[in-house]
Amino acid sequence: MDVPHIPKVFSQGIWCPQCDERSTPRTCADPFAVCFVCASDHRFYISATYPVSSETEKASALRVPVAKSASEAEAAHYWLTNSQARDHLNPQLAQLLRQFVEHRALSYEPEFNWCPACGRPLLPFEQPDVWVQGLACENGHEFAARGGHINGSLGGERISLLSEYSAKALQSVVGGWLKPNPLLAPQMHATVRDILEHYASGQAATV
Ligand SMILES: [Zn+2]
Ligand SMILES: [Zn+2]
Repeated sequence: MDVPHIPKVFSQGIWCPQCDERSTPRTCADPFAVCFVCASDHRFYISATYPVSSETEKASALRVPVAKSASEAEAAHYWLTNSQARDHLNPQLAQLLRQFVEHRALSYEPEFNWCPACGRPLLPFEQPDVWVQGLACENGHEFAARGGHINGSLGGERISLLSEYSAKALQSVVGGWLKPNPLLAPQMHATVRDILEHYASGQAATV
């Protein structure tokens, strides 16, 4: 697992897609992600390259050196920071673990209202892919939005930004992972399931 590459156009920071303030890069609980945060604490991420599903499917069978006595936070820290473990960690689970460790459960739904590259409004436009929402600014920066991600290409580089889950979305995504599902089961190690169950049973504070 490699640390993420910051595209040139984002090297000095981005315009916050939520509120249009300047957002600067900073480290976070996930060493394989770069967080951009604005003065209002809206956080958007560039993630590391995602492991393919043939690798994440090996997660449940991995031998994991997490002590039985380890807290959920310690186990989550191990999964997020250990490079070999990350090679097998489903990216959605990685995002959940990061939000648990950072106590982030948003009271609002994050939105891509402003172009991260130039700060102009992002408006929907017609495009042929029914699975994504096309968003563009007046400077011709175009993105495809889907499920809390925007993807695009700027200055010859691929751009991908990820928002955080709201408290409501977290509840639904965690619930999905905890339901019996033969497709998802191989992707989740028992220690990760414990963390999700601990989280699902607790009352998360929203920010
Ligand atoms: Zn903001
Ligand atoms: Zn733009």
